[in-house]
Amino acid sequence: MAVPKRRHSNARTNSRRANHDKKEPRHLTYCAQCSSAVPPHTVCPKCGHYMGRKVVDIDS
Ligand SMILES: [Zn+2]
Repeated sequence: MAVPKRRHSNARTNSRRANHDKKEPRHLTYCAQCSSAVPPHTVCPKCGHYMGRKVVDIDS
């Protein structure tokens, strides 16, 4: 099994760990029907449209 040859610095360990809980901003697209912000590849929760077609009935 591969084993590290040399210890690496505390700074290197710390900078690796510093990236663990970085969050990328949630990517959003806009519904073609009602132009509300929707995650990509997702049926719009406001109007139930997906790819310009109504796929889910939304009450109200
Ligand atoms: Zn919509």
